[in-house]
Amino acid sequence: MTAKILDGKVMSAELKAEIARKTEELKKRGVTPGLAVILVGNDPASEIYVRNKGNGCEETGMLSRTIRMDGDTTQEALEAEIDRLNADSAIHGILVQLPLPKHLDEQAALARILPEKDVDGFHLINAGRLMTGNPGVTACTPKGALYMIKSTGVDLTGKEAVVIGRSNIVGKPMAMLLLQENCTVTICHSRTQNLAEHTRRADILVAAVGKAGFVTADMVKDGAIVIDVGINRVDGKVRGDVDFDAVKEKASWITPVPGGVGRMTIAMLLANTLEAAERTLSRD
Ligand code: NAD
Repeated sequence: MTAKILDGKVMSAELKAEIARKTEELKKRGVTPGLAVILVGNDPASEIYVRNKGNGCEETGMLSRTIRMDGDTTQEALEAEIDRLNADSAIHGILVQLPLPKHLDEQAALARILPEKDVDGFHLINAGRLMTGNPGVTACTPKGALYMIKSTGVDLTGKEAVVIGRSNIVGKPMAMLLLQENCTVTICHSRTQNLAEHTRRADILVAAVGKAGFVTADMVKDGAIVIDVGINRVDGKVRGDVDFDAVKEKASWITPVPGGVGRMTIAMLLANTLEAAERTLSRD
């Protein structure tokens, strides 16, 4: 079997067109969705992500603000900036670009963002809402990955889903979303024994490990849906966690890297910002 490609470029372009249309409607009602990104220091990868986010806002007609802070910024100064944005009615979404320099407390910074402006979905309140099945803001990468899985049209109920990776930003929320779709979910991690025995059972396999080419064809069930979240730089090229060329001969659907989940992450960030702006109208 040769897998069909879940094309993040095409899917995210469609989503962004829809978001642009809804943004235009919202503007007619007097609200321009606004996203603020705080970038501390000058990590080159973070610079690229922040630029992409700004471009996404521009494409969809949203207001974009980037707040650059020096690498030696104090926790107090960072939290004061978050407080300012929390109080700014032109800003509906606040994102603190991670990773922060080592001397800063990431969890405290994320907790400072108002949950309704937490468009990354990393605040404890939003993580808790996802865990308990209550409406909240869902983390962008797993939200985008689920969108891709659902686009296959496969009925997810009762399917075996295996997520490799248990981070708070990808693995755990991904597992929760698949559970909400009535999958039987297994979370694997660095201490999992006999990993391939788990992954070979997966109808849906999500790799969020951070190791290029980690998932090989012998770890994949025939006909599985394979979602590659990994972004790894190898010899100047971006590679996923999945050995794409070999695995695509076994899977039914697969996401490429680049051009897969990464594109969806930005689209979902814009979707979360739009939704946050829409909610301010329903509160009036
Ligand atoms: P992380 O380092 O926080 O987590 C990696 C996870 O992989 C851990 O939970 C660990 O237990 C697991 N792991 C490590 N070695 C393993 C092994 N040998 N066997 C099984 N599990 C193992 O990383 P993260 O933030 O969750 O990101 C994972 C990958 O996804 C990275 O490549 C990252 O760059 C990428 N990422 C992509 C997007 C996107 O938009 N596509 C967004 C976030 C992260």
